[in-house]
Amino acid sequence: MQPASTTTPEETFEGPQWQTPAMRQFVRFKTEHPDCLLLFRMGDFYELFGPDAVIAHEALGITLTERTKGMPMAGVPHHSIESYVRRLVDQGHRVAMCDQIQDPKDAKGVVDRAVTRVLTPGTLVDEALLEDGHENVIAAIVPMMHGKTRVFGIASAELSTGSFTVQVCDPLELGDALARIAPAELLLPDELSSEEHPEASPDALAQFDTALTPRQGWTFRREDADELLREHYGVASLESYGIPADDPALPAAGALLRYLLETQSPQEDAGPGQLGHLRPPVHVRNDTFMALDVATLRSLEIERTSHRGEIAGSLRSVFGHCRTSMGRRLIRHWLCRPLLDRATIDTRQRAVRSFVEDRQLADDLRDAAGKVQDVARIGGRVAVGRCTPRDVVALGLSVDAAVELRDLLADRPALSDAHHALSASLDELTPLSALINDQCVDAPPAHLRDGGVIRDGVDPALDEARGLQRDANTWLTEYQATIIEETGIGALKVGYNKVFGYYIEVSKANDARVPDNFTRKQTLKNAERYITSELKIFEDKVLNAESAAIERERILFTQLCEKIAGALGPLSRFAETVGQIDCLACLAETAHRLGWKAPTLEDSNVLSIIEGRHPVLDASMRDGFVANDCRLAEDGGATLALITGPNMAGKSTYIRQVALIVMLAQAGSYVPAKEARIGITDRIFTRIGASDELHAGRSTFMVEMTETANILHHATDRSLVILDEIGRGTSTLDGLSLAWAIAETLLERKARTLFATHYHELTTIADRAEGVCNLHVAVREWQGKIVFLHRIKPGRTDRSYGIHVAEIAGVPPTTIARAQQLLETLEVREGESVPPADVPAPTPAQMSLFTEYLPHPVVEALKNIELDNLAPLEAFDRLRALVEEARGKE
Ligand code: ADP
Ligand code: MG
Repeated sequence: MQPASTTTPEETFEGPQWQTPAMRQFVRFKTEHPDCLLLFRMGDFYELFGPDAVIAHEALGITLTERTKGMPMAGVPHHSIESYVRRLVDQGHRVAMCDQIQDPKDAKGVVDRAVTRVLTPGTLVDEALLEDGHENVIAAIVPMMHGKTRVFGIASAELSTGSFTVQVCDPLELGDALARIAPAELLLPDELSSEEHPEASPDALAQFDTALTPRQGWTFRREDADELLREHYGVASLESYGIPADDPALPAAGALLRYLLETQSPQEDAGPGQLGHLRPPVHVRNDTFMALDVATLRSLEIERTSHRGEIAGSLRSVFGHCRTSMGRRLIRHWLCRPLLDRATIDTRQRAVRSFVEDRQLADDLRDAAGKVQDVARIGGRVAVGRCTPRDVVALGLSVDAAVELRDLLADRPALSDAHHALSASLDELTPLSALINDQCVDAPPAHLRDGGVIRDGVDPALDEARGLQRDANTWLTEYQATIIEETGIGALKVGYNKVFGYYIEVSKANDARVPDNFTRKQTLKNAERYITSELKIFEDKVLNAESAAIERERILFTQLCEKIAGALGPLSRFAETVGQIDCLACLAETAHRLGWKAPTLEDSNVLSIIEGRHPVLDASMRDGFVANDCRLAEDGGATLALITGPNMAGKSTYIRQVALIVMLAQAGSYVPAKEARIGITDRIFTRIGASDELHAGRSTFMVEMTETANILHHATDRSLVILDEIGRGTSTLDGLSLAWAIAETLLERKARTLFATHYHELTTIADRAEGVCNLHVAVREWQGKIVFLHRIKPGRTDRSYGIHVAEIAGVPPTTIARAQQLLETLEVREGESVPPADVPAPTPAQMSLFTEYLPHPVVEALKNIELDNLAPLEAFDRLRALVEEARGKE
């Protein structure tokens, strides 16, 4: 996504072509909104001028013309404006809509206009502009000093549903937090220095595919933020929301709120007070959710595949569809934020179980939930004054449908929380839905201005106005009959046309019989049109009745919306509960469909999975998938497993499946395994494959080492670490040494670790250290072909497997013999490393970057070792000795 800025230099608008009254108006608005594409309403079109026109022409493929010489212009028809706005915003642009706020008939000179809305990627609320089932989140970040440490304050909100959260994170974890939030738009202080805060530099943020919106520094000032938030929520202190005055997240929250208020009410006089649906900010603590970093979210392919970025093939794709929009948004949340509290996980799991065990209930509930529409977003639109008649009717129907849902939940202990929450919100919402049903027609028009939203019989004034309109036809027929009789002109007609209003039409042939009280109005080729005072009075009455009806409807509809606005609290709880029920039923449906089992969560750090399967591969292969066990930290057993085996054997699949099973278990889901005991895991770290992040300006090896450094810094004995072929991006000896030292560090931390590696030498760690076990993937030779059994077995793999595979594959015997000979030489010859031709050795800068992040003793050890002059095994022994020595000194 491009940055959402289209700043235009002032001098663009000098020159005579910009001096007409309308253009001066345009320039004024453009100057007030320099970072927006300004859509300027002229008649039936929204026009763009100058540089904006060129941008829109390129972005939308609309024709570029010239209004006058040297003034580019492009326009889009007003009736299909939404689809154009959506495309512009999707491409990261900000759009200001400038409308006519005066009836052109009343205008003396140029008609009055005003910017009525500013649309940005993160502040959309209209149904037509939002993607169903996807959150559209806006976030703000600001670096802060918290005591002596540098941290980032983060605030994020979804305007369409009113969710609002804040958090504080270490600079190194900013990327992880943003990956989880996945904002469509990101606010940050305009004076932010990329040198001081490289984590928030445009380069670093480019990977998040978010529109960057720099904001003036003062909007992040603590005092202003505090005051704005207190004023908005009407509280004396934000302490009541668990946000102390010195909370580093507070300035970000204030800046975000200010921006939301600004974009939703761009007129100066509309101060705070809107956005009644925005819930008070919730502080996300680090101990609520399992921490998953960017690399893990991507490499475990939770939402999209890492290779092509597709949804098919991701973990999420395994889950069937939720029935509601709320559920579709929530399931992503649950998958990306596994829980840490065992009681909470158990509660969720019990609810899933009750659905798994009662399929009928699950189906009925899903059907009932399916009738509830996107009430979260309807609430959002009510709060910003942009709800449509269809929204209101949908809300009424949804509340009615939820009554069935509530009854289904009754008397189910595992679902009592949901039942209580739903009952409570329905008690408050049912009177509202009754009112909506009483007042609104069943199938209202899309826009209030079209009329016909409020039922007959609701309001006497409206009924009278409508009666007049309806009676008009009868009156006209009667009037026509009367004057035909009076004048004796049989062919006379009474009619109506938009421009001239009501008329009496008489053909030229009957000219002579036209009475004096007919006043001439319009001359046609063969006829004359007249009006009488009687007809004129009638006309005024009818036209007045029409506008009176529309006006009356507007008042009634606004009153109804105000009543709904008074119930935004229960409405958002209602939406939340329905989303949860929908998600639980979806987890249950998936468990049932794929034969998953309920895991047992434990407070120990055991990881014991019997016949585990990879959720995605298993779902697509069905019976073809080979299940495997995983046992770590069981009865004091090994915490680190080294997994060796030839390419394509199934190493990567195995270690990922373990991580996914742990994640699913803590998300409250069932898991693809026969049995699983899982000690609550605080974080899952992964370093899988060589992710190509060249676009972020970092080399692959650098990325690998940065991610590894992150793991070494944060892994605890409650963490699960998944390492796949690390150390590949550098020369063999370097890579092997690093892999070795990293394995040792993790072993010492007692982090549960699965380490897939092609370095057979590493397997000797198991001979020297406690807590390590070797696993390998079984392969069989059958009729001259390699058969991958995909079965994980204890012990290490055959070292010369590569050459063996080459032999079976038909490499000539002489070449094989030579390879065997070389291998033996390399294994015994002193002072010889095996640099692969295709990977360059790391530069000193890369190495120093790596050592900067490593724990101190290992760094020292690495500095002292002269890797290049040693044979591999000797290098490891030296390294080990050095590490031990260094640690002894500490
Ligand atoms: P490695 O990492 O050892 O090179 P992968 O884990 O990438 O191997 O697996 C290679 C392929 O083998 C996978 O794409 C999958 O098709 C298949 N495979 C892996 N594990 C299994 C399994 N347990 N059962 C069936 N097929 C598997
Ligand atoms: Mg692999």
